[in-house]
Amino acid sequence: MKIAIFPGTFDPLTLGHIDLIKRGRALFDQLAVAVMTNTSKKPLFSVEERVAQIKEATAGMDNVSVITAQGLTVKLMNKIGADYLMRGLRNTTDFQYERDIATMNKFLDKDVETVFFLADPKYQHLSSSLLKEVAMSGGDISAYLPGQISTALDQRLKERKLKRVVDDQNE
Ligand code: ADP
Repeated sequence: MKIAIFPGTFDPLTLGHIDLIKRGRALFDQLAVAVMTNTSKKPLFSVEERVAQIKEATAGMDNVSVITAQGLTVKLMNKIGADYLMRGLRNTTDFQYERDIATMNKFLDKDVETVFFLADPKYQHLSSSLLKEVAMSGGDISAYLPGQISTALDQRLKERKLKRVVDDQNE
């Protein structure tokens, strides 16, 4: 049984992530999307919110599960019996960063195989942080997010008054 893990921050999940999940679930028997909680990034959505968002977006994908994790990804992989670690590559910056992480993970556990997916050209310019930046400035980025996440992002930016400032300026 080929079990893979797809770790990330997913703050929030974008159509770029979903494209990878769909391609990964076609390749592996089981795919665990892992919301990593030990990132230095300060997330806009709580771990619970991100898990719920990913569960909703992957409902019906029967071999996909959503978990949370902290610490070393290789330890989590041992715990759930995963041999494959999925990551996406959008550009050479991703490549250089990911190559180092993959090499380190191989050093930590020689059985871990990192599998890279080239981003679909439709989504290779997308990152959660770029989408948040554009949304904060009032840009419509709904085409790049599942509907419910787009609505949640809009609400969250308004709640935190991260969007209104710009809206006021434009009035
Ligand atoms: P992290 O903090 O782990 O980089 P992200 O949520 O930003 O978390 O990304 C998780 C994974 O998804 C990474 O491997 C990243 O390269 C990949 N990814 C992010 N956006 C895209 C995209 N638009 N197309 C393909 N892969 C992507």
